[in-house]
Amino acid sequence: MTQTKKYCPFCGARIKKRNIEGRNRSVCESCGRTLYENPLPATCAVVFNELGQVLMTKRAVEPAYGEWALAGGFVEIDETPQECVLRELYEETGLRGEIIRQLGVEGEKSEMYVNLMIAGFLIKADSEEPRPGDDVSYAEWFDPDKAPEPVFESHKKLFKIGIEILTVELMRR
Ligand SMILES: [Zn+2]
Repeated sequence: MTQTKKYCPFCGARIKKRNIEGRNRSVCESCGRTLYENPLPATCAVVFNELGQVLMTKRAVEPAYGEWALAGGFVEIDETPQECVLRELYEETGLRGEIIRQLGVEGEKSEMYVNLMIAGFLIKADSEEPRPGDDVSYAEWFDPDKAPEPVFESHKKLFKIGIEILTVELMRR
């Protein structure tokens, strides 16, 4: 289960497989570069509002079309994970927010993307009215105990951590 390129992204020559450092890696026949393959970085958002409700989105893209998930997406080459999660939240739901804290990093095996690294953030929304945007057909607030479970294992874990923190915070008020 590896994503394999046929041609070198640096010089365009063919790539072959070679055992390097005990792994079957892709190496360029011409320029000799080893093409390391790594998990794709992505982010997800556990978003809450003034009422302590949490935001869930319904996916309008594969993988997991039509399933519930947290807002989020892939980190662009020129942005930080923090910028990524706030941008994705806005693109998918029209909501702006403030990052309260990081929730952790989880792996996610994927048929489409092989392997992902997903950084979760707890975000306080600064408005109340989500409108579904890119990649999302539906976005809605739920009481934490009534929220649908997100489809991805990484989102499940990060969502659970976020809810635990929110619950403790709400009890303090
Ligand atoms: Zn090359």
